Amino acid sequence: MDYYSILGVDKNASPEDIKASYRKLARQYHPDVNKEPGAEEKFKQLGEAYSVLSDPGKKQQYDNPQQYRSQQSGFDPFGFDPFSNPFQRRSQQNNKNTPVSVNIGLTLKEIYNVVEKTVNYSRNVFCNDCSGKGGSGSQHICQQCQGRGRNIQQIHEGMYVHVVDAGPCHVCNGNGMMYSSPCLKCNGAGHKNENSSVTITTKHGILFDNMILSGKGNHIDPNHPSGPLIIEFYLADQSFQFDQQGNGVKEYYINPINALLGDEMEVVMPDETQSKMRIPAHTANNHMFRFANKGLPRPNGFGDFFVKILYKNPDSITDQQKEILQSYLETLK
Ligand SMILES: [Zn+2]
Ligand SMILES: [Zn+2]
Repeated sequence: MDYYSILGVDKNASPEDIKASYRKLARQYHPDVNKEPGAEEKFKQLGEAYSVLSDPGKKQQYDNPQQYRSQQSGFDPFGFDPFSNPFQRRSQQNNKNTPVSVNIGLTLKEIYNVVEKTVNYSRNVFCNDCSGKGGSGSQHICQQCQGRGRNIQQIHEGMYVHVVDAGPCHVCNGNGMMYSSPCLKCNGAGHKNENSSVTITTKHGILFDNMILSGKGNHIDPNHPSGPLIIEFYLADQSFQFDQQGNGVKEYYINPINALLGDEMEVVMPDETQSKMRIPAHTANNHMFRFANKGLPRPNGFGDFFVKILYKNPDSITDQQKEILQSYLETLK
């Protein structure tokens, strides 16, 4: 998988760009929002790509895998070369306790108020019956994948042959090796998927921060500490649009005559309070009125909120109104 193309950024993208693109795509493909087939898979890929590219250390390893392998033999955090020596590779599989990423939608109420929220997610944990080994007895190389642990397929297309990595080998569950007595509890996988939940407390600025909970991620390898749970937040409420600084805009449509003569209107702030707003005479189309510190809560303070005025002609006018407007036009001659 090319993490950069998954996130739709190029290799020189800044951490801010990577984060912004991840947020945008995660919102688009979130299973709560997007019911299209493949959306959930895409969402998972986004989480995996982001957990690597958002971490400077992992990103560097990902960008320079050769350099990293030669410097730190025996540790490859990004899966492994499917054609490498299986015996050598087995000793390299010591970072299976990967992070789990979840995206949690928050309502405006949950963002303005400190609330407790239960986050349900699934993670992989080692099997207690076999202590994560997948079985007992002697070991032999999996015949299906020849010890690679990957389901490598050759696809013939005309005169070309593409080699495709179609995920972990389903016979040995990606281990490359099999036990003479596979564990019956986990069917030889050594680990199983388990539903977990954690209760978090929201705080001001939570939308602009990750929450990283150590010890709550995948725990496939019992000999190493469990990976972290990374919680990212997005605004589930789409009635307002906000930028990364917490500044928000809402559009209000008014009759151009009201804008010309001046008017007063009720507007709703993001925190759901109502506010009376005066529209001065000669207010232009697209004019933005700023309400300082009425945007989203940030780690320090608040963003600003803007009311954008857009002209909208009335759907119809009566004969009498037409006459009045005609006589107004006469005065311009
Ligand atoms: Zn296999
Ligand atoms: Zn087991």
